[in-house]
Amino acid sequence: MTMADTLTQKDVRHVRHWIDGHATGEPSIERFAPATGALVARYADASTEEVAQAVVAARRVFESPSWQSTVHSQRAGWLERFADLLSENRQRLAEIDAEEVGKPVAFALGDIDLGIAHVRQAAAIARTETGETFPGVAHGYLAVAERRALGVVGLVIPWNFPAQIMLQKLPYAIAAGCTTVVKPSEFTSSSAIAIARIAEEAGIPAGAVNVVTGYGQTAGQAILEHPDVAYVSFTGSTRTGRIVAETAARQLKRVGLELGGKAANLVFADADLDKAADGAVFGAFINQGESCVATTRLIVHRSIAERLTALVVERAAKLRMGLPGDPATDVGALIHPAHRDGVANAVDVAVSAGGVLELGGKAPGGDLANGAFYPPTIVSGIDPASALFTEEVFGPVLAVTAFDDDNEAIALANATPYGLAHSLWTTDLNRGVTVGQRLDAGTVWVNTCTDGSPQLAFGGVKASGYGRDAGFEGYREFTEYRTLQIRTADRPSPFAGR
Ligand code: NAD
Repeated sequence: MTMADTLTQKDVRHVRHWIDGHATGEPSIERFAPATGALVARYADASTEEVAQAVVAARRVFESPSWQSTVHSQRAGWLERFADLLSENRQRLAEIDAEEVGKPVAFALGDIDLGIAHVRQAAAIARTETGETFPGVAHGYLAVAERRALGVVGLVIPWNFPAQIMLQKLPYAIAAGCTTVVKPSEFTSSSAIAIARIAEEAGIPAGAVNVVTGYGQTAGQAILEHPDVAYVSFTGSTRTGRIVAETAARQLKRVGLELGGKAANLVFADADLDKAADGAVFGAFINQGESCVATTRLIVHRSIAERLTALVVERAAKLRMGLPGDPATDVGALIHPAHRDGVANAVDVAVSAGGVLELGGKAPGGDLANGAFYPPTIVSGIDPASALFTEEVFGPVLAVTAFDDDNEAIALANATPYGLAHSLWTTDLNRGVTVGQRLDAGTVWVNTCTDGSPQLAFGGVKASGYGRDAGFEGYREFTEYRTLQIRTADRPSPFAGR
C-alpha cells in the first residue's frame, strides 16, 4: 500500500476537546480532505462554556502550589522529553496535517521537524534563563529583575501550518511557566489534540495544555473575552487580527498578532539569476503559496525582467501537482474549494486588467478534479496599484512587476499595507545591506527566502501585526518583567523627624 492510499483509507477521526487531561465534547464539524473531497475528520464545536472549562483547568493548574514551585530547569526537562516524543510521532503528525491541509507529506514532515526544533529551543531558553541583577544602583541596595509567567494564555492557530505554528508558541509559553488554552483552525484541528496528548505523556501536567476545537467567532472569541486569560498569541489573517485587537483593547488584554503578508522578492540586475529563479519558485509556491511569507511579488530590474521571468516559468512548469501522500507531489491542494475559487478569481481579475498569463491560471481536471487544486500561476506586467500586487491571495500565484532603479524597487516592495517579510537578490553585499535595511518587514532575506531558525524571533510590522513568535523574543511575550528591590542599608526618609 502506498502512502497515498494510507492517507485516504484511514477511519474518520473523531476529534474531541482535550480539557484537563480528558477528551470531551461531541464532534460535529465535518472536515473533508481538500485533495480528495473525502470526509476525514469530525471536530467538536466548542461552546463558550467548554472554553470556560478549559480556562478553569488551566487556571487551577497555574495557581496550584506544585506548578508555582516548578523551576525553569524542570520545565526544560519536560520540553526535552516532549521533543523526543514528538520525534517518535513525526510521521503520524505529518500525515494528519498533510491530509487536512492538502499539502505534500514530505513538506509536512519538514513542518513537524521545525516545530520540534522550537520545542528544543524553548527548552534551551528555559535552562539558561537568568534574569538581571542591578548591584550598582546605590550602596546597600540590590535590585533583581525576573521575567515571570503571565498566567493562562490563549494560543489561536491558523490552518496553513497547524502543528508547526502551535509548536512555535506552546513550548515557549510552557518554558515561561504559563498554562495554555489552544484553539486550532476549524479546518485543521486533529494535530493539536495529538500534540496536547503527547505533551502530557512527556510529563507536562494535565490541565496545562488544553485544546478546544471549533470556530473562531465562538471558541476563539470566548478565549479572548475570558477575564482569566492574560494574553492571547494569535496567528491568522489581518482581517481577523483587527477583530482580535479590538476585543483585546476593550479589556486592556495583551495580544500578539502574527498576521498576513505580501512579501516582495526583489531581483537586481547583478543577481545570480539561476539562484534568484530557484528562490522565486520556492518562495512563491512552497505550501501551495499558502504561506504568510510567500514571496508572491517578483519585482525585477527591467533589464533582466524577460530573462528572469522565462527562467522562473521554466522551473515552475516542472512542479507537480498531486495528492499529499504521493512522494512526487510538489504542490498539493488548497485548503477548500471556496478558497481555490477566490484564488482563481484574483488571477482572472488581474488578467482581464491587462496582466499577461505566463503560466497556469486554470484548475486541473482529470484525477485531481475532486480536489481544491490550483496550479502554480505566474502573471507578468502587474500594475502596482492592482489588487494582485497589494492584497494577500494566499495561493500559488506570482505577480511580476519591473523596476528601473533601487529607490523604485524599495518603494514598490514597501507599497502594501503589510510588512512581514521581503527577500532580495544581488551579488553586491553593500546593496544587500542598504536596501535590506530600508525594507519595512520583520524579516528580510538577502540571497535566500523562506528561511529561518527557532533562534530567530519572527513577526511583522504594519498590517502584518505586532509581537514576536519564537526565540528569546517569543519566550518573552509570555512573561512580565518584574523587579524586586532590596535595601540592606538604611534609606533616610525625607519625612524623618516629622
Ligand atoms: P483566520 O484569521 O481566518 O483564522 C485564524 C484563527 O483565528 C483560526 O483558528 C480561527 O478559527 C480563529 N478566529 C477567527 N475569528 C476569530 C475571532 N473573532 N476571534 C478569535 N479567533 C478567531 O486565518 P486563516 O485563514 O486560518 O489563516 C490564514 C491567514 O493567516 C493568512 O492571512 C496568513 O497570512 C496568516 N498567517 C500569518 C502567519 C504569521 O506568522 N504572520 C503565519 C501563518 C498564517
